[in-house]
Amino acid sequence: MTKKLSLLVPMFNEAEIIDHFFERVLPILEDLALEWEVVCVNDGSRDGTQELLRQWHERDGRIKVINLSRNFGKERALTAALDLAIGDAVIPIDADLQDPPELIPRMVELWGQGFDVVNAIRSSRKSDTFTKRTTARLFYRIINSVAEREIPSNAGDFRLLSRRVCKELRSMRETHRFMKGLFAWVGFPTTEIYFERKPRSGGVTKWSYWRLWNYALEGIISFSTVPLKIASYLGLVTATLGFLFAGILVTRTLIFGDPVKGYPSLMTAVLFFGGVQLIFIGVIGEYIARIHDEVKGRPIYVIDSIQGFEDINSQSVGGISPEDSGYP
Ligand code: UDP
Ligand code: MG
Repeated sequence: MTKKLSLLVPMFNEAEIIDHFFERVLPILEDLALEWEVVCVNDGSRDGTQELLRQWHERDGRIKVINLSRNFGKERALTAALDLAIGDAVIPIDADLQDPPELIPRMVELWGQGFDVVNAIRSSRKSDTFTKRTTARLFYRIINSVAEREIPSNAGDFRLLSRRVCKELRSMRETHRFMKGLFAWVGFPTTEIYFERKPRSGGVTKWSYWRLWNYALEGIISFSTVPLKIASYLGLVTATLGFLFAGILVTRTLIFGDPVKGYPSLMTAVLFFGGVQLIFIGVIGEYIARIHDEVKGRPIYVIDSIQGFEDINSQSVGGISPEDSGYP
């Protein structure tokens, strides 16, 4: 039986480039000796994305559409696509064509050679601004020095994942989803291909620096407890120094008496320790907030409507069924 490939495409306000996207991707898919489907997730777009996707679905039933009830963010949109995809392998790809679909045949070839994961790594970040390059480099350095598993640098979500990787990914229902980390966590034979990432072919990026900062925090906190350890060790060091200093003060007072002095050092110590404590209460708070979010156990996304999934029976959908998701 021919295998099936699923392309997973999260889309948020991408009306401007949807046509380009399909015009470039579909011929490549047609040339593969595989069956295929394209699972598009309209992540609460407020432009014409929904309507355009509906038209493309009508033109070709292999283009399937999931409309989410609102904007959930790329990671969750991708999860929705992953849950409903039925391919033997999936490839998440950005709608803006920054991930060149021309790499797909090569990925499929490596999959055929037995690799479960084929990462597409950016060989350079020339198309990025200086700040973005530097912050990205810093991010990978930090996360890879603390994370429980190595996260490949400069790999986006663009990669091929085999059926068994998808199965594991579907079983991870955490609400804080750092996809790159989850992909890497699963393991299995992995290989890499390199490519040059182009600037967006149209539209604008949805990732402000604030959003990227939060994304970085998400990654570090979801995949590492090192920040908590830093708190413990720093606490240990400062407490030890504090005791030593107290010893010195007591001895000095006993020998030289107690003229009222030392207001500046007192103030410095109070403010320093106050500050350190507040910072680490914040760090602990970040972890507690995530526990709080996880125990609520809310769904990762809410589906408004779907097109093209008629063949799916309610059991086969990872975690959710069309009825659950409000399928009319
Ligand atoms: N995206 C999404 N939901 C969001 C933000 C982005 O589905 O809330 C999609 C977007 O449509 C695109 C992909 O995620 O297909 C990558 O987004 P973008 O190109 O803005 O990110 P960048 O390439 O700048 O990292
Ligand atoms: Mg992009």
